[in-house]
Amino acid sequence: MKRGRRKAKERVIHLPDDKVKIFTIYHMWLYFGYIFTRSEDEEENASSTSSTAEWGLLFDSYIFGKKIQDSHFRDALMDAIINKMNTIRTFPHEVQQVYQNTPQNSPARRLFVEVCLYYDSEAFIQMAAGNAECLQDVALAFMNAKKTKRDFTCPARESCEYHEHAKGEENCYKKGRY
Ligand SMILES: [Zn+2]
Repeated sequence: MKRGRRKAKERVIHLPDDKVKIFTIYHMWLYFGYIFTRSEDEEENASSTSSTAEWGLLFDSYIFGKKIQDSHFRDALMDAIINKMNTIRTFPHEVQQVYQNTPQNSPARRLFVEVCLYYDSEAFIQMAAGNAECLQDVALAFMNAKKTKRDFTCPARESCEYHEHAKGEENCYKKGRY
């Protein structure tokens, strides 16, 4: 009995810093299966400031998805991030946020590194330089790319490359089984 109680206690997840907006996004995701980050009013009055805030919200939600261990939610968020990136041609700057809150093999980290390599611009290197681990990852990726003569492609929303589900598209949230 005591043992069971202890086990139940261990399952409590503390979420002191998460915002109401993130819970709303998660709730909408569970209910509709889509990532909604803006209301209709916000959509109509979208500005560059709200776009910047949306990046933060997407990555905060991604980190929240890690806390609650919902990999399908995280996969859907990666698609939303890549979709935003490819649609409006602006790029996230949440390097610190991602590197401080995700593990070494996180697809979100990989996305930052590969965006740096693909766009090969000084601005991205400066962005990576804000975090020592990120800068190291970018340097290692450049070195490996040189060795293997690998070409970098722009992250595409359609692929499962940045998803965490088991291998095989049948395990993807996009197949609608979840
Ligand atoms: Zn997938």
